[in-house]
Amino acid sequence: MVSGPLQVTVLGATGSIGLSTLDVIARHPERYQAFALTAFSRIVELRELCRLHQPRYAVVADSARARVLQDQLDSDGVKTRVLVGEGGLSEVAAHPEVDVVMAAIVGAAGLRPTLSAVQAGKRVLLANKEALVMSGALFMQALHDSEAVLLPIDSEHNAIFQCLPGNYAEGLRRVGVRRILLTASGGPFRQLPLDQLAAVTAEQACAHPNWSMGRKISVDSASMMNKGLELIEACWLFDARPEQIEVVIHPQSVIHSMVDYVDGSVLAQLGNPDMRTPIAHALAWPERIDSGVSALDLLQVARLDFEAPDQHRFPCLRIARQAAQEGGTAPAMLNAANEVAVDAFLNGRIRFTEIASIIEDVLSQEASVPARCLADVLAADAQARGLASRWLQRRER
Ligand code: NAD
Ligand code: MG
Repeated sequence: MVSGPLQVTVLGATGSIGLSTLDVIARHPERYQAFALTAFSRIVELRELCRLHQPRYAVVADSARARVLQDQLDSDGVKTRVLVGEGGLSEVAAHPEVDVVMAAIVGAAGLRPTLSAVQAGKRVLLANKEALVMSGALFMQALHDSEAVLLPIDSEHNAIFQCLPGNYAEGLRRVGVRRILLTASGGPFRQLPLDQLAAVTAEQACAHPNWSMGRKISVDSASMMNKGLELIEACWLFDARPEQIEVVIHPQSVIHSMVDYVDGSVLAQLGNPDMRTPIAHALAWPERIDSGVSALDLLQVARLDFEAPDQHRFPCLRIARQAAQEGGTAPAMLNAANEVAVDAFLNGRIRFTEIASIIEDVLSQEASVPARCLADVLAADAQARGLASRWLQRRER
């Protein structure tokens, strides 16, 4: 049998994770070929990526942009076919010739194409944590019912995966795990005097000390909602209960998370903070390939610090933990309210500290119900977005 390079669909190719993925792919042309690249609106960047990687398909959000991009690619002599919208995303996620799907769209918009990739039995590299947070039980059931292999890209979950034994799916207790230690950098406001938190700008929130990321996840890191979403993500990925997961602030972001075993052993995964490491790990697993990330210089790192998260500074962590404990549609509502709140903050409509107020208000108004099907999840998402928008309207009156 002749086996050429694995065909890779990159959902969210123009984003931070998408670009890092294409960087790793380009280092290994004999192993990987971009099959489809998708973007929401940045067609200038997508055109350039299509010229570089010559994918079979590109996908953009609307037909006007699709026409412009198709004309440009035709005149460039690039043979890529441009598809449109959610239908196009699901088509390239589930295409029979695709082997690997990098799910790197930000937010709830990534849910359907990521689920399509799972249902089609692909190797799914999950960066889009919001998809799993929203639909956890359904997502894991779809994984169970298919041939798909899910590999975590979030650096913490990739680290935990690397520190767990191969048979961890038998149950964390059975394999001797006492706790998962989820590390967090604490973001740009870890040491800011509390009375200045209400006045921080979007630019300050997006200036992460260790990682360069998209704007939404940067704000989530600053509020530590990112860690809250990651706690829920870890519960699903590793079949853990919320109380088995402890969040530890580690400002250097050199340890990417740890697993604490009953015999007192703690296994950690370390590395420079560069997403190409988990991406290369998940692309090649169980093999190892060069990611382009330089070797960790421990002498230069010199010290590793740890502290407990400050509950007053980071209320989002508590709110997310409560949603994790509640289950059902609570995590979908948490995620939706957070997406609306972060967008409002990035657009200067609310203060940073109001992000938590909006989410808490939305969750207090709408009880969690069982998430039996995708329609339940999408209804909860829509309901929470409506409540959060009304909160914003009330504020602006
Ligand atoms: P980003 O904002 O840089 O990129 C987002 C990508 O999604 C872009 O390609 C954009 O075109 C696409 N997109 C946005 N809205 C869309 C929509 N409605 N429909 C279709 N496509 C849409 O974000 P990022 O930092 O690359 O993060 C992507 C995902 O990975 C997020 O879920 C994030 O939480 C997760 N993640 C990111 C990092 C990181 O270091 N950047 C680390 C861990 C996890
Ligand atoms: Mg992370």
